[in-house]
Amino acid sequence: MKNIFEAVREAVPVPLAAERYGLKANHAGMVCCPFHDDRKPSLKLNEDYFYCFGCGAGGDVVELTRRLFDLRPYEAASKLAVDFGVDVPATAPPDGSLNRFRSDLLRCQQVLDEYLNLLIRWQRKYAPRSQDDKPDDRYVEACQMLEPMDYMASMLAAGTLEQRIRAVDRLLADGKMDQLEDRLNRIKEQELKEEN
Ligand SMILES: [Zn+2]
Repeated sequence: MKNIFEAVREAVPVPLAAERYGLKANHAGMVCCPFHDDRKPSLKLNEDYFYCFGCGAGGDVVELTRRLFDLRPYEAASKLAVDFGVDVPATAPPDGSLNRFRSDLLRCQQVLDEYLNLLIRWQRKYAPRSQDDKPDDRYVEACQMLEPMDYMASMLAAGTLEQRIRAVDRLLADGKMDQLEDRLNRIKEQELKEEN
């Protein structure tokens, strides 16, 4: 099941949101960056992410909205859903006992933490160095996933019991956590090999 971040990201291209929120793009899809004192357009709008070659600001459509309106990630996603009429899926009802929930919660927190650390590393390491660079897939993934994952992690850490149960349910749905854990292990092995 899609969450609100996935839903708005799929439905709202970055250039559309930028235009709606008052950023005027030139023929090359560049706008004057609203996040630093920008005289000539240095922020590039791509379909699913933006990147400023002046100040390094970058991210997906939620991040753009979050920064423009100084919102929390979840509020930015909600604003996009409202402004663009995106259907936001309801979350699955909680089930399972409390003990089971506690061990699931711990596991989700550990896997998410590891993934977040990886994304932060990727965003720095693989950021495009010039306008002509085709962005590295790892950089794009970091831009797209950092906010929703960070939101999930804060929900797990500080949400109400009901919010935490819902977040764990969502993370465990369709074997998502298993797949992510497998993938993280493979990446770790690969990186170790490359270091040696
Ligand atoms: Zn900038």
